[in-house]
Amino acid sequence: MSAVTICEVGPRDGLQNAHHFMPTETKKRWIAALAAAGLKEIEVGSFVPPKLIPAMADTAEIVSFCRTIPNLKVVALAPNLKGFQRALEAGAHKVTFPVSASRKHSESNVRMTPEQMVEEVRKCAQAPHPGVEIEGAVSTAFGCTMQGEVPEDDVVRIASALAGFCDGVALADTVGYGNPAQVKRIFSRVKGEIGAKLEGAHFHNTRGLGLANALAAYEVGVRSFDSSLGGLGGCPFAPGASGNVITEDLVFMFEAMGVKTGIDLDRLMAARRMMVEAIPQEPTYGHFALAGLPKGFRASA
Ligand SMILES: [Zn+2]
Repeated sequence: MSAVTICEVGPRDGLQNAHHFMPTETKKRWIAALAAAGLKEIEVGSFVPPKLIPAMADTAEIVSFCRTIPNLKVVALAPNLKGFQRALEAGAHKVTFPVSASRKHSESNVRMTPEQMVEEVRKCAQAPHPGVEIEGAVSTAFGCTMQGEVPEDDVVRIASALAGFCDGVALADTVGYGNPAQVKRIFSRVKGEIGAKLEGAHFHNTRGLGLANALAAYEVGVRSFDSSLGGLGGCPFAPGASGNVITEDLVFMFEAMGVKTGIDLDRLMAARRMMVEAIPQEPTYGHFALAGLPKGFRASA
C-alpha cells in the first residue's frame, strides 16, 4: 500500500487554539522531538499579526530554528501578502494560505470575500518566491459554524481557482462538520477538476470523525494528511471540543494497515510527554496513548 505523508500541525493549529502558552524555547525542543520521531513536515507557526494571536508571535524565530533541523520541511501559514513576505524572510520552505469556502466565515475572519482572498493568494504566488512551495487550503470545505452548509460547487470552484497558481491544494474541515461519505464525494469531485494538484486533507476531530474522514480520503487517493499530537487545540466555535485529528492515532491506523508513515510511535509518545509536561492543564486526547501497542504489533515494513 502506498505511503502517506503526515504534517504535524500542533505547533500552529494546536497552540493557536490552546488556552495555555508554550514558551519559545520549549516549543523549539518540542518541534525537534517531533522531527526526531520521523515527522518530515511540520507546520510550525502562523504569520498573522502578533496582536491577533499572541501564541504565534515567535513564528519567525521558530521558523529559523526549524531550518536547522535536517530533512524537515518547515511549513508556515500566512493570511495575506504581508504575512507571506514575513514567511519568506524567515525562510519557510512551504507557505499555506487558508481560503474559506464559506462566504460568511471569510467575511468575518479576513473581511474579504472568498474571491478576494483567492486574488490575495494570486498576488503572493506572482511575487518572487524562489524555491518556496505555495499551498492553497480551502477551509470550511465541509461546513461552517456561521453559514451552516457550504455548497460543494463553491468548494470545487475555489479549489480550481487556487490550482491555477498554487503548487498544491488542500481541503480543510476547519470545524469538524465532515463525514466520510461527504469527504469521498468532495475530494473526488475536486480531484476530477484539478488532478494531482489536490494534495492534502486537514481534518478536525470535533465530533470524533477525524480518523474515519482520513481513511475515507485515503481511499480516494489522498496521501498527505495534517494532524496534531494529542489532538491539541480545540475549536473556537465549540468550547470543550477536541482539535485536529490525533497524530498518534492516525500513525497507528496507517501503520497497522501496512501503510508506511516513516514515524516511530515510541518517539512520538516521547514528544507527547514533552508537550503534556510543558502545558499540563491543556486537554489532550487519543486512544493510542491510553492503550499502547497491541501484542504482536508490527509497523509497516
Ligand atoms: Zn485546522
